[in-house]
Amino acid sequence: LLQLYMPLNFLGSVYSSIRQSFVDLEQLFSLLGEHAEIEDQAGAKTLLAHLGEAPAAAIEFKSVWFGYQPERMILKGISFSVPPGARVAIVGPTGAGKSTISRLLFRFYDVNQGVITIDGEDIRHYKQASLRETIGVVPQDTVLFNETIQYNIRYGRLTASQEEVEGAAKFAHIHNFIMRMPDQYNTMVGERGLKLSGGEKQRVAIARAILKNPRILILDEATSALDTRTEKDIQQALDEIAEHRTTIIIAHRLSTIVNANLILTLQDGQIIEQGTHTELLHKNGVYAAMWAAQIKEQDHS
Ligand code: ADP
Repeated sequence: LLQLYMPLNFLGSVYSSIRQSFVDLEQLFSLLGEHAEIEDQAGAKTLLAHLGEAPAAAIEFKSVWFGYQPERMILKGISFSVPPGARVAIVGPTGAGKSTISRLLFRFYDVNQGVITIDGEDIRHYKQASLRETIGVVPQDTVLFNETIQYNIRYGRLTASQEEVEGAAKFAHIHNFIMRMPDQYNTMVGERGLKLSGGEKQRVAIARAILKNPRILILDEATSALDTRTEKDIQQALDEIAEHRTTIIIAHRLSTIVNANLILTLQDGQIIEQGTHTELLHKNGVYAAMWAAQIKEQDHS
C-alpha cells in the first residue's frame, strides 16, 4: 500500500492538505476509492488532456469572486485571459490569493460568482477527471512516497515504460544523480529511504509533469532559496517544459518571469496591475517597487 507522509486514517484532513498544498493526487483518490467533493454534471464533456491530442489550451477568468467562507471573499472580481501557449505569471504579497486562483482552475472549489473557461467552455461543464488530467502542477513542495525513485517519477503516468521514466529524469536533470545512488532507479526514497533535497524533489515533480504531458501547466515556485546552480538548472528544465504549453506561474522570484507574456499583480484579491515586465516597470507602480526591492536584496546578498 502507498504510504504518504501523512496519516491516511484521517482522509478528510488529508484531502484538505492535498487541496491546500496542491499535491496532484487524483490518482491516489481512485486508488483509495475516495470521492472528490465536486461531482460531474450530467452530460459533462471530456476535455482533451494531453499536448498532441489537442493544441495548447486557452484559459479565461471572467469576473471571478470566491471565498472559502461566504462571508469572507478572497478573490474579488478577477478577470484575465491566457491565450493558447502563453505564459502568465501571478505575483503579489502572501495571502493575496495567488494559490487560490490555481486551486479554482483545478476545480478544488467552485467559484461563487463569475466563470472560469478552458477553450471557451465553463470548466464546470467538463468531466472533473479530464480537467485534472489536463493540468499538470509542479508544486512548491513535492510529496514523495516511501517507494523507489522510479515509482515516484512514474507516478506522473503510471503506465509509463522504464525508458520513458528515464527520459523524463534526463529532461529534469535528475538522471545522473539517480545513477549515482546505491540502487539507482530502485533506490528507496521518502521518509524511510534516501532523503531528497528541495531541489531534487522539485526535479522529481518536473519529471512527473513531463510524463503527464498536460496541456496546461501550473508552476508554484518554491519560496525557499535553492543554490544558484540548482536554480539555473531547474529554471532551464521549467522553461523547456513550459514551451508550447499554456503556463501559469505563481512567482516569488521576479527574475524568473521577465519573459512572461503577461504578469498579473495581485493584491487583496484584486488584480491591481497587468502587463509585461517592461510595461509594468514603466508604470512605476507596485510591480516596479517589488522589482526594485528584489534587485536591492540581491545586491546585498
Ligand atoms: P497566496 O498564494 O497569494 O499567498 P492564498 O491564495 O494561499 O494566497 O490565500 C489567500 C487567502 O485565503 C489568505 O488570507 C488565506 O488565509 C486564505 N485561505 C487560503 N486557504 C484557505 C482555506 N482552506 N480556508 C480558509 N481560508 C483560506
